[in-house]
Amino acid sequence: MNGFICGRCRATVGDADRFLTGTRHRDHCPHCLWSKHLDRIPGDRNAHCGGLMQPIGITFKTEGGEPVGEPMVVYQCLDCGVVHKNRIAADDDNASIISVYCRSLKQPPTTNVIALADARSARLLLTRLFGKHAIPRAYRKQFGLD
Ligand SMILES: [Zn+2]
Ligand SMILES: [Zn+2]
Repeated sequence: MNGFICGRCRATVGDADRFLTGTRHRDHCPHCLWSKHLDRIPGDRNAHCGGLMQPIGITFKTEGGEPVGEPMVVYQCLDCGVVHKNRIAADDDNASIISVYCRSLKQPPTTNVIALADARSARLLLTRLFGKHAIPRAYRKQFGLD
């Protein structure tokens, strides 16, 4: 795959550098996070849809009902409606990830396929993005973590 132009914000997205992004399949824009419906399973390029995929929320694996582990972005295709989740890449824009999370808190999108992270996951999300001791003060305030 030789990179692409983001269908949402028109940024040129370079080919995946797996050492930089920590992912082999650069399938979404690191700036606005929007993606393209190309895969049936991650990386297979088998979907034949090509619709724009909107980031609709954040999800975590759960253990015993508690969210754990790395945050993932939940996508819904604007053309066919399919819902996917995808790992966040190391160079994804943190502010965009947080705004996707905030949007989904205010207006829960209807997905009964994947459980979206709720307000209780704010600390976990910010810890994963910034590190436990490096969460910017503005975010700590916004989410009431102090
Ligand atoms: Zn973009
Ligand atoms: Zn689609």
